[in-house]
Amino acid sequence: MSRWIIIGACVWMVVLGGAGLFMVTGWEGRSAVASTAITTATPTNVAESQSQVRQTQATQQAYPGWLNIPVGCTIGRDCWVLQQFDHDPGPDFRDYACGARAYNAHKGVDFGLATDNDMRRNVPVLAAAAGRVLRLRDGETDGVAVAQGVGAVPKGRECGNAVILEHGGGWETIYCHMRRGSVAVKQGQSVAAGQQLGAIGMSGKAEFAHLHLGVRYKNNPYDPFLPGGMKPGACGSVGSLWTPAAAAALRYSPLDMVAVGISDTRPNVAGVNNGQFNSFTRRDADALFGWVLAWNTKAGDILRVDIQDPSGKALLSTTQKLDKGYRRHFRFAVKKKSGAWHSGNYTVTATIQRSGRTPVTRQMSRTLKLR
Ligand SMILES: [Zn+2]
Repeated sequence: MSRWIIIGACVWMVVLGGAGLFMVTGWEGRSAVASTAITTATPTNVAESQSQVRQTQATQQAYPGWLNIPVGCTIGRDCWVLQQFDHDPGPDFRDYACGARAYNAHKGVDFGLATDNDMRRNVPVLAAAAGRVLRLRDGETDGVAVAQGVGAVPKGRECGNAVILEHGGGWETIYCHMRRGSVAVKQGQSVAAGQQLGAIGMSGKAEFAHLHLGVRYKNNPYDPFLPGGMKPGACGSVGSLWTPAAAAALRYSPLDMVAVGISDTRPNVAGVNNGQFNSFTRRDADALFGWVLAWNTKAGDILRVDIQDPSGKALLSTTQKLDKGYRRHFRFAVKKKSGAWHSGNYTVTATIQRSGRTPVTRQMSRTLKLR
Protein backbone atom coordinates (compact mmCIF):
# COMPACT_ATOMS: atom_id res chain seq x y z
CA MET A 1 0.00 0.00 0.00
CA SER A 2 2.80 2.38 0.76
CA ARG A 3 3.79 2.50 -2.86
CA TRP A 4 0.39 3.81 -3.87
CA ILE A 5 0.18 7.48 -4.26
CA ILE A 6 -2.99 8.91 -2.91
CA ILE A 7 -3.45 12.22 -4.52
CA GLY A 8 -4.03 15.14 -2.26
CA ALA A 9 -5.34 18.52 -3.15
CA CYS A 10 -1.93 19.87 -4.01
CA VAL A 11 -1.55 17.85 -7.16
CA TRP A 12 -5.04 18.46 -8.44
CA MET A 13 -4.91 21.29 -10.84
CA VAL A 14 -7.70 23.66 -11.57
CA VAL A 15 -6.43 24.96 -14.82
CA LEU A 16 -9.38 26.65 -16.33
CA GLY A 17 -12.25 28.05 -14.40
CA GLY A 18 -15.64 29.55 -14.68
CA ALA A 19 -15.54 33.21 -15.46
CA GLY A 20 -14.22 34.38 -18.76
CA LEU A 21 -15.93 31.90 -20.99
CA PHE A 22 -18.06 34.25 -22.92
CA MET A 23 -19.31 33.98 -26.40
CA VAL A 24 -21.04 36.87 -27.96
CA THR A 25 -22.98 35.97 -30.99
CA GLY A 26 -25.40 37.58 -33.35
CA TRP A 27 -25.24 39.86 -36.27
CA GLU A 28 -24.69 43.53 -36.35
CA GLY A 29 -25.58 45.67 -39.28
CA ARG A 30 -27.82 43.46 -41.34
CA SER A 31 -26.70 43.59 -44.92
CA ALA A 32 -29.08 44.26 -47.73
CA VAL A 33 -30.46 40.87 -48.55
CA ALA A 34 -33.86 40.55 -50.10
CA SER A 35 -36.09 38.94 -47.54
CA THR A 36 -38.61 37.38 -49.84
CA ALA A 37 -41.43 35.40 -48.42
CA ILE A 38 -40.95 31.68 -48.46
CA THR A 39 -43.76 29.71 -49.87
CA THR A 40 -42.37 26.54 -51.31
CA ALA A 41 -39.92 25.78 -48.53
CA THR A 42 -42.26 26.32 -45.62
CA PRO A 43 -43.07 23.03 -43.93
CA THR A 44 -46.62 22.56 -42.85
CA ASN A 45 -45.70 22.05 -39.24
CA VAL A 46 -43.93 25.39 -39.12
CA ALA A 47 -46.99 27.17 -40.42
CA GLU A 48 -49.03 25.37 -37.82
CA SER A 49 -46.62 26.32 -35.10
CA GLN A 50 -46.89 29.99 -35.97
CA SER A 51 -50.63 30.02 -35.67
CA GLN A 52 -50.33 28.09 -32.44
CA VAL A 53 -47.88 30.63 -31.09
CA ARG A 54 -50.37 33.37 -31.68
CA GLN A 55 -53.21 31.43 -30.17
CA THR A 56 -51.62 29.97 -27.11
CA GLN A 57 -48.85 32.21 -25.97
CA ALA A 58 -50.39 32.46 -22.52
CA THR A 59 -50.44 28.75 -21.83
CA GLN A 60 -47.14 27.76 -23.50
CA GLN A 61 -48.73 24.38 -24.04
CA ALA A 62 -49.03 24.15 -27.76
CA TYR A 63 -45.81 24.80 -29.60
CA PRO A 64 -45.71 21.88 -32.01
CA GLY A 65 -42.13 20.74 -32.28
CA TRP A 66 -40.55 21.47 -35.62
CA LEU A 67 -36.84 21.83 -34.86
CA ASN A 68 -34.52 18.88 -35.35
CA ILE A 69 -31.11 18.47 -33.73
CA PRO A 70 -28.83 20.82 -35.71
CA VAL A 71 -25.62 18.80 -35.44
CA GLY A 72 -24.51 15.50 -36.94
CA CYS A 73 -23.19 13.93 -33.75
CA THR A 74 -24.63 12.02 -30.81
CA ILE A 75 -25.70 14.15 -27.89
CA GLY A 76 -24.06 12.93 -24.69
CA ARG A 77 -21.47 10.88 -26.52
CA ASP A 78 -19.45 13.13 -28.81
CA CYS A 79 -21.25 16.44 -28.48
CA TRP A 80 -23.20 18.13 -25.71
CA VAL A 81 -25.55 21.05 -25.08
CA LEU A 82 -22.97 23.03 -23.16
CA GLN A 83 -24.70 26.36 -22.71
CA GLN A 84 -28.34 27.32 -22.73
CA PHE A 85 -30.45 30.42 -23.37
CA ASP A 86 -30.35 33.03 -20.59
CA HIS A 87 -33.77 33.81 -19.11
CA ASP A 88 -32.59 36.20 -16.42
CA PRO A 89 -33.63 39.76 -17.29
CA GLY A 90 -30.80 41.33 -15.29
CA PRO A 91 -27.04 40.90 -15.17
CA ASP A 92 -27.27 37.38 -13.76
CA PHE A 93 -28.03 34.31 -15.83
CA ARG A 94 -30.44 31.43 -15.54
CA ASP A 95 -31.26 28.64 -17.97
CA TYR A 96 -34.78 27.33 -18.56
CA ALA A 97 -34.37 24.71 -15.81
CA CYS A 98 -33.27 27.42 -13.36
CA GLY A 99 -29.72 26.09 -13.61
CA ALA A 100 -26.50 27.91 -14.39
CA ARG A 101 -25.88 26.56 -17.86
CA ALA A 102 -25.96 29.98 -19.47
CA TYR A 103 -24.23 33.31 -19.29
CA ASN A 104 -25.62 36.80 -19.28
CA ALA A 105 -27.57 37.71 -22.42
CA HIS A 106 -26.85 34.43 -24.18
CA LYS A 107 -29.74 34.15 -26.60
CA GLY A 108 -29.10 30.76 -28.11
CA VAL A 109 -28.14 27.15 -27.47
CA ASP A 110 -24.53 25.98 -27.76
CA PHE A 111 -23.83 22.50 -29.10
CA GLY A 112 -20.19 21.82 -28.19
CA LEU A 113 -17.53 19.26 -29.01
CA ALA A 114 -15.23 17.68 -26.42
CA THR A 115 -12.14 19.64 -27.42
CA ASP A 116 -11.16 22.22 -30.02
CA ASN A 117 -9.23 19.51 -31.84
CA ASP A 118 -12.50 17.68 -32.53
CA MET A 119 -13.31 20.45 -34.98
CA ARG A 120 -10.98 18.61 -37.38
CA ARG A 121 -13.55 15.82 -37.61
CA ASN A 122 -15.78 18.21 -39.57
CA VAL A 123 -18.88 17.45 -37.50
CA PRO A 124 -21.82 18.53 -39.67
CA VAL A 125 -24.05 21.47 -38.85
CA LEU A 126 -27.55 20.61 -40.08
CA ALA A 127 -30.62 22.65 -40.94
CA ALA A 128 -32.93 22.33 -37.93
CA ALA A 129 -35.92 22.61 -40.27
CA ALA A 130 -36.68 23.13 -43.92
CA GLY A 131 -36.18 26.69 -45.06
CA ARG A 132 -34.31 29.03 -47.30
CA VAL A 133 -30.86 30.53 -46.90
CA LEU A 134 -31.38 34.19 -46.07
CA ARG A 135 -27.77 35.15 -45.40
CA LEU A 136 -24.43 33.50 -44.93
CA ARG A 137 -20.81 34.26 -44.22
CA ASP A 138 -17.62 32.23 -44.61
CA GLY A 139 -13.91 32.99 -44.55
CA GLU A 140 -13.53 33.88 -40.87
CA THR A 141 -10.55 32.28 -39.13
CA ASP A 142 -11.22 29.68 -36.45
CA GLY A 143 -9.81 30.09 -32.97
CA VAL A 144 -9.10 33.83 -33.03
CA ALA A 145 -10.89 34.39 -29.71
CA VAL A 146 -8.68 31.78 -28.03
CA ALA A 147 -5.39 32.63 -29.72
CA GLN A 148 -5.66 36.42 -29.65
CA GLY A 149 -8.47 37.13 -27.20
CA VAL A 150 -12.07 38.04 -27.84
CA GLY A 151 -11.08 41.65 -28.53
CA ALA A 152 -9.37 40.52 -31.73
CA VAL A 153 -12.63 39.34 -33.29
CA PRO A 154 -13.77 41.94 -35.83
CA LYS A 155 -16.83 43.95 -34.88
CA GLY A 156 -19.99 42.63 -36.45
CA ARG A 157 -18.42 39.22 -37.02
CA GLU A 158 -18.94 37.76 -33.56
CA CYS A 159 -21.08 35.02 -35.07
CA GLY A 160 -18.19 33.95 -37.30
CA ASN A 161 -18.96 31.79 -40.29
CA ALA A 162 -22.70 31.54 -40.26
CA VAL A 163 -25.94 30.77 -42.01
CA ILE A 164 -29.36 32.28 -41.38
CA LEU A 165 -32.35 30.25 -42.54
CA GLU A 166 -35.84 31.68 -42.87
CA HIS A 167 -38.69 29.28 -42.34
CA GLY A 168 -41.64 31.46 -43.19
CA GLY A 169 -44.01 33.57 -41.12
CA GLY A 170 -41.22 35.37 -39.31
CA TRP A 171 -39.30 32.36 -38.02
CA GLU A 172 -35.54 32.23 -38.52
CA THR A 173 -32.73 30.02 -37.28
CA ILE A 174 -29.13 31.15 -37.16
CA TYR A 175 -26.04 28.94 -37.05
CA CYS A 176 -22.82 30.55 -35.76
CA HIS A 177 -19.09 29.79 -35.38
CA MET A 178 -18.84 27.29 -38.22
CA ARG A 179 -15.46 26.11 -39.46
CA ARG A 180 -13.81 28.28 -42.07
CA GLY A 181 -14.49 27.02 -45.57
CA SER A 182 -17.22 24.63 -44.44
CA VAL A 183 -20.34 26.57 -45.43
CA ALA A 184 -22.01 24.29 -47.94
CA VAL A 185 -25.06 26.29 -49.08
CA LYS A 186 -25.72 29.36 -51.20
CA GLN A 187 -27.78 32.43 -50.51
CA GLY A 188 -31.38 31.96 -51.60
CA GLN A 189 -31.08 28.19 -51.69
CA SER A 190 -33.90 26.07 -50.32
CA VAL A 191 -32.75 23.46 -47.82
CA ALA A 192 -34.43 20.41 -46.38
CA ALA A 193 -34.54 19.64 -42.67
CA GLY A 194 -31.32 17.89 -41.79
CA GLN A 195 -29.43 19.14 -44.82
CA GLN A 196 -25.81 20.00 -44.11
CA LEU A 197 -25.08 23.72 -43.83
CA GLY A 198 -21.45 23.50 -42.75
CA ALA A 199 -19.28 22.07 -39.97
CA ILE A 200 -18.85 22.89 -36.29
CA GLY A 201 -15.95 25.28 -35.79
CA MET A 202 -14.84 28.13 -33.59
CA SER A 203 -14.90 31.21 -35.80
CA GLY A 204 -16.01 34.55 -34.42
CA LYS A 205 -16.28 35.02 -30.66
CA ALA A 206 -16.12 31.32 -29.84
CA GLU A 207 -13.83 30.16 -27.06
CA PHE A 208 -14.50 26.49 -27.68
CA ALA A 209 -15.58 24.42 -30.67
CA HIS A 210 -19.36 24.65 -30.89
CA LEU A 211 -22.41 25.57 -32.86
CA HIS A 212 -24.46 28.45 -31.51
CA LEU A 213 -28.05 27.93 -32.61
CA GLY A 214 -30.30 30.95 -32.40
CA VAL A 215 -34.05 30.83 -32.98
CA ARG A 216 -35.91 34.03 -33.80
CA TYR A 217 -39.54 34.87 -34.35
CA LYS A 218 -40.12 38.29 -35.89
CA ASN A 219 -36.60 39.26 -34.86
CA ASN A 220 -37.11 38.32 -31.22
CA PRO A 221 -34.93 35.54 -29.78
CA TYR A 222 -36.74 32.44 -28.57
CA ASP A 223 -35.47 29.63 -26.39
CA PRO A 224 -36.41 26.47 -28.28
CA PHE A 225 -36.70 24.69 -24.92
CA LEU A 226 -39.04 27.31 -23.46
CA PRO A 227 -40.53 29.36 -26.27
CA GLY A 228 -43.09 31.05 -24.05
CA GLY A 229 -40.39 32.45 -21.80
CA MET A 230 -39.89 31.90 -18.11
CA LYS A 231 -42.75 32.47 -15.73
CA PRO A 232 -42.07 33.49 -12.13
CA GLY A 233 -41.42 30.49 -9.93
CA ALA A 234 -41.42 28.05 -12.81
CA CYS A 235 -38.50 25.93 -13.91
CA GLY A 236 -38.23 23.43 -16.72
CA SER A 237 -39.33 23.06 -20.30
CA VAL A 238 -42.99 23.87 -20.87
CA GLY A 239 -43.73 23.27 -24.50
CA SER A 240 -40.82 23.10 -26.86
CA LEU A 241 -39.93 23.92 -30.43
CA TRP A 242 -38.08 20.62 -30.74
CA THR A 243 -39.56 17.58 -32.40
CA PRO A 244 -40.38 14.85 -29.85
CA ALA A 245 -37.30 12.87 -30.90
CA ALA A 246 -35.03 15.89 -30.59
CA ALA A 247 -36.56 16.90 -27.26
CA ALA A 248 -35.89 13.42 -25.88
CA ALA A 249 -32.26 13.48 -27.00
CA LEU A 250 -31.77 17.02 -25.70
CA ARG A 251 -33.12 16.38 -22.22
CA TYR A 252 -31.62 18.86 -19.76
CA SER A 253 -28.27 17.81 -18.34
CA PRO A 254 -26.97 19.70 -15.31
CA LEU A 255 -23.43 18.32 -15.66
CA ASP A 256 -21.37 16.84 -18.47
CA MET A 257 -18.09 15.02 -18.71
CA VAL A 258 -16.72 15.48 -22.20
CA ALA A 259 -13.25 13.92 -22.23
CA VAL A 260 -10.84 11.85 -20.20
CA GLY A 261 -7.30 10.92 -21.05
CA ILE A 262 -4.14 9.22 -19.93
CA SER A 263 -0.73 10.70 -20.52
CA ASP A 264 2.91 10.02 -19.70
CA THR A 265 3.63 13.74 -19.60
CA ARG A 266 2.05 16.39 -17.40
CA PRO A 267 -1.09 17.60 -19.18
CA ASN A 268 -2.51 21.08 -19.52
CA VAL A 269 -5.84 22.21 -20.84
CA ALA A 270 -4.47 24.06 -23.86
CA GLY A 271 -2.71 20.90 -25.03
CA VAL A 272 -5.77 18.77 -24.32
CA ASN A 273 -7.78 21.14 -26.49
CA ASN A 274 -5.20 20.65 -29.22
CA GLY A 275 -5.58 16.88 -29.09
CA GLN A 276 -2.47 16.22 -26.99
CA PHE A 277 -1.92 14.29 -23.77
CA ASN A 278 -3.50 11.04 -24.86
CA SER A 279 -0.28 9.12 -25.20
CA PHE A 280 1.55 6.48 -23.17
CA THR A 281 4.67 5.42 -25.05
CA ARG A 282 7.53 6.13 -22.64
CA ARG A 283 8.35 3.00 -20.69
CA ASP A 284 10.67 5.11 -18.54
CA ALA A 285 8.07 7.77 -17.75
CA ASP A 286 8.38 9.05 -14.21
CA ALA A 287 4.63 9.31 -13.80
CA LEU A 288 1.30 8.59 -15.38
CA PHE A 289 -1.44 11.22 -15.48
CA GLY A 290 -5.19 10.67 -15.66
CA TRP A 291 -7.11 13.79 -16.67
CA VAL A 292 -10.72 14.82 -17.04
CA LEU A 293 -12.52 17.68 -18.76
CA ALA A 294 -16.03 18.42 -17.51
CA TRP A 295 -18.65 21.17 -17.83
CA ASN A 296 -20.74 22.78 -15.15
CA THR A 297 -19.24 21.25 -12.05
CA LYS A 298 -20.48 22.44 -8.67
CA ALA A 299 -19.05 22.71 -5.18
CA GLY A 300 -19.73 19.42 -3.42
CA ASP A 301 -19.43 17.26 -6.54
CA ILE A 302 -17.36 14.14 -5.93
CA LEU A 303 -14.68 13.56 -8.55
CA ARG A 304 -12.98 10.20 -8.72
CA VAL A 305 -10.13 9.10 -10.98
CA ASP A 306 -9.09 5.46 -11.31
CA ILE A 307 -6.29 4.01 -13.39
CA GLN A 308 -6.09 0.26 -13.97
CA ASP A 309 -2.87 -1.42 -15.01
CA PRO A 310 -2.67 -4.23 -17.63
CA SER A 311 -3.45 -6.89 -15.01
CA GLY A 312 -6.61 -5.07 -14.00
CA LYS A 313 -5.11 -3.94 -10.72
CA ALA A 314 -5.93 -0.49 -9.42
CA LEU A 315 -2.85 1.58 -10.00
CA LEU A 316 -4.45 4.76 -8.81
CA SER A 317 -7.75 5.45 -7.14
CA THR A 318 -8.36 8.91 -5.83
CA THR A 319 -11.43 10.85 -4.82
CA GLN A 320 -11.91 14.50 -4.16
CA LYS A 321 -14.84 16.66 -3.13
CA LEU A 322 -14.81 19.79 -5.23
CA ASP A 323 -14.74 22.95 -3.18
CA LYS A 324 -15.75 25.04 -6.15
CA GLY A 325 -17.56 24.55 -9.42
CA TYR A 326 -16.55 25.74 -12.85
CA ARG A 327 -18.20 26.22 -16.18
CA ARG A 328 -15.37 24.34 -17.86
CA HIS A 329 -13.25 22.31 -15.52
CA PHE A 330 -9.97 20.51 -16.17
CA ARG A 331 -8.21 18.39 -13.57
CA PHE A 332 -5.69 15.61 -13.45
CA ALA A 333 -4.35 13.09 -10.99
CA VAL A 334 -0.88 11.60 -11.05
CA LYS A 335 0.58 8.15 -10.26
CA LYS A 336 4.32 8.23 -9.84
CA LYS A 337 6.37 5.34 -11.13
CA SER A 338 6.88 2.57 -8.61
CA GLY A 339 8.89 0.06 -10.60
CA ALA A 340 8.74 -0.64 -14.32
CA TRP A 341 5.66 0.11 -16.40
CA HIS A 342 4.48 -3.19 -17.89
CA SER A 343 3.26 -3.53 -21.45
CA GLY A 344 -0.45 -3.75 -21.98
CA ASN A 345 -3.61 -1.75 -21.59
CA TYR A 346 -3.94 1.06 -19.09
CA THR A 347 -7.42 2.40 -18.46
CA VAL A 348 -8.37 5.67 -16.84
CA THR A 349 -11.92 6.08 -15.59
CA ALA A 350 -13.23 9.37 -14.28
CA THR A 351 -16.50 9.66 -12.38
CA ILE A 352 -18.31 12.72 -11.10
CA GLN A 353 -21.19 12.26 -8.70
CA ARG A 354 -23.59 14.94 -7.54
CA SER A 355 -25.95 14.19 -4.70
CA GLY A 356 -29.08 16.09 -3.80
CA ARG A 357 -32.65 16.04 -4.93
CA THR A 358 -31.69 14.91 -8.39
CA PRO A 359 -28.51 12.82 -8.16
CA VAL A 360 -26.29 12.88 -11.23
CA THR A 361 -23.45 10.58 -12.20
CA ARG A 362 -21.19 11.06 -15.20
CA GLN A 363 -18.48 8.57 -16.07
CA MET A 364 -16.06 8.14 -18.93
CA SER A 365 -13.10 5.82 -19.61
CA ARG A 366 -10.19 5.67 -21.96
CA THR A 367 -7.71 2.87 -22.57
CA LEU A 368 -4.21 3.19 -24.01
CA LYS A 369 -1.81 0.39 -24.80
CA LEU A 370 1.84 0.57 -23.78
CA ARG A 371 3.80 -1.49 -26.30
ZN1 LIG B 1 -23.91 30.60 -27.97
